[in-house]
Amino acid sequence: MELVLATGNRDKQQEIKAFLQDLGLTIRTLDEFSAAPVVIEDGETCQANAGKKAREIALYTGALTLADDTGLEVDALGGRPGVFAARYAGDHATYADNCRKLLDELRGVPADQRGARFLTVMAIADPASSVEFVEGVLQGRIGDHCSGAHGFGYDPVFIVPALGKTLAELTLDRKNQISHRGQALAKAKDVLKRKLEETSGRSAAR
Ligand code: IMP
Repeated sequence: MELVLATGNRDKQQEIKAFLQDLGLTIRTLDEFSAAPVVIEDGETCQANAGKKAREIALYTGALTLADDTGLEVDALGGRPGVFAARYAGDHATYADNCRKLLDELRGVPADQRGARFLTVMAIADPASSVEFVEGVLQGRIGDHCSGAHGFGYDPVFIVPALGKTLAELTLDRKNQISHRGQALAKAKDVLKRKLEETSGRSAAR
């Protein structure tokens, strides 16, 4: 069975592939579909964006498709940047630009008021049926400087309180064990296993 990842983000692709590698699926990425439509992420929620990406790419490829949309909600900023986390520091912002802007906006905010959470919503679109959603949340706090060389995005400024480390100080496997994306992937894996069983059941019945 084939699974298309409806994301061009190589960092996300790496985490998702590592988590799902033991399922025996053929995982393909958008890089292999150069003429695929560019999906405009204009939803107001992660669920709306994930659903839109999964549906449009599943329609184009005709294959089972998984999309991930992730937001970062910072308490001291009233939930910003939220679903707009990718463009927080501007349309062409780099990961470093976004982290710098976040640290700047939180300058002087005490540690106990720097709470934040990552929310990942994954949509699994089956061209033959409807879309299923799963999600994962990771609670943490924003540090006052960047720390760590692993991961991507806001990982260097996102501290996991129970570990006293930023996500960027964790290996990919350790991050996947605890992260918002890892939690969503654990649930996505159950959905995918069911789809695999349905497919093998159908083939056996033929
Ligand atoms: P999107 O889901 O591609 O819209 O990502 C939103 C923004 O959050 C992007 O700037 C990503 O780099 C960032 N982001 C997504 N997932 C993670 C993560 O696991 N850690 C840190 N930043 C992330």
